[in-house]
Amino acid sequence: VSGLLGWDEQVQMPPGAAELRSQQQQVLAGVLFEKETAPELGALLQKLAASPPEGVWEKAVVRDATRDYKRKTALTKELAQREARLSSEGYQAWVKARSSSDFSAFSPVLGEWLALVRERSAAIDPSQSAYNVSLDGFERGMTTSRLDEIFTEVRNGLIPLLAQVKASGTAPDASWLSGDWDVKKQAELCSAIAVEMGFDLNRGRLDVSVHPFTGGAGPSDVRMTTRFKAHDMTEGLTGAVHETGHALYEQGRPGGEVEGLPASSALSMGVHESQSLLWERCVALSRPFAEYLLPKLRATFPGQIPDDKTPEDLYRALNVVSTRSLIRVESDELSYPLHVILRYELETALLAGTISVEELPAAWNAKMKEYLGVEPENDAQGVLQDVHWSAGAIGYFPSYSLGAMMAVQLFDSARTDLPTLDADISAGRFAPLREWLRAKVHCKGSLLPTADELMVSATGSPLKPAIYLNFMRAKYSDIYALST
Ligand SMILES: [Zn+2]
Repeated sequence: VSGLLGWDEQVQMPPGAAELRSQQQQVLAGVLFEKETAPELGALLQKLAASPPEGVWEKAVVRDATRDYKRKTALTKELAQREARLSSEGYQAWVKARSSSDFSAFSPVLGEWLALVRERSAAIDPSQSAYNVSLDGFERGMTTSRLDEIFTEVRNGLIPLLAQVKASGTAPDASWLSGDWDVKKQAELCSAIAVEMGFDLNRGRLDVSVHPFTGGAGPSDVRMTTRFKAHDMTEGLTGAVHETGHALYEQGRPGGEVEGLPASSALSMGVHESQSLLWERCVALSRPFAEYLLPKLRATFPGQIPDDKTPEDLYRALNVVSTRSLIRVESDELSYPLHVILRYELETALLAGTISVEELPAAWNAKMKEYLGVEPENDAQGVLQDVHWSAGAIGYFPSYSLGAMMAVQLFDSARTDLPTLDADISAGRFAPLREWLRAKVHCKGSLLPTADELMVSATGSPLKPAIYLNFMRAKYSDIYALST
């Protein structure tokens, strides 16, 4: 119900209803909190711990319910209230600080959040570091020692590749993709593509909102939204394919006897992102997809695509790397992980106390220069660009890049299992890939306890940065004609 209220708020609700909606959401949050932390539930879980069930799904349900209960009941009422207050204050302070590009207007709130996250983490699991506990809320089972291992390899592989692309690469011509693209036609085309990918309109809806998202009420009612801009057709298209990837995961999660139970939920933020990014980057930004897409663009926008353009030109134009990547959300797939790694390194250092809040802007700028070769001119373009820290979401950023890596590794396995994959994609036959993902990822819910274990079951090995780096090197060496 909360998911539907949230969807309605962003898609349909008249602005005057905002206050009433916030009251409705608060009442519902109260009901949920009472149920989730009810002593009766705790007693039942204790009974189950003493005599565990036999079946694999039942075991996973008890495991996840126990974990959720522990995380929820660890918070005192005082801590929960401080968290709610800081969330709203934090957002206001961030908006103000960003608009005046003044980090000092945000730093006190960030300091308070760090203290709160340390306190909350200690309450949930004092045997783990604060960052690990916080991270586990988004990416279960993931730890800083595993992340350090993964991100160091990725960082060391991507920095020289990005530098090489910028220094000696020949950028593809993407100028013909700029211009004015009818927004209504973009929306129609993208809905058609979402349906061809397998989005089931009998169990979902497609709408437009300011910030695209996928939500709703579970596998039988998935609400997906997109956004289109006249001057940027690529953003609308890749955004729509991205959200469809999320939506396919949602529609494919297990139903039947386990529907609605904890183990039927998505495994982690990173796994969710792997599904959107697999469709967005491995499919929609691929050569075979350009063959599928170009005739559709010609039919949808008559006369707007120059006659001499080929699918190869489209593929290259869609994969341009930005030469000045300051903003994470606007960056290309080659720069993106470096933005994430930078944030990961800074937030772990902040939480561990090895850098202070006051030192953060300078540390940010230094890493931007070292990793991406650019320096922000002000804090609005730098340390204040993301909303996440204002909501206390510390440990959230890694999921984005873990998702990108899982996507490549899953796609790599799918290609081995489906020898006609490229031909299928260029012909718009997406069912084989979708069904492969359904069997290997979607219908597993969170049966397996960590993303690494899901990767072992789907691809034969845990997350391997080398697979991702090889993909990126091969792709961009080719597009940018790098000498290897
Ligand atoms: Zn996403």
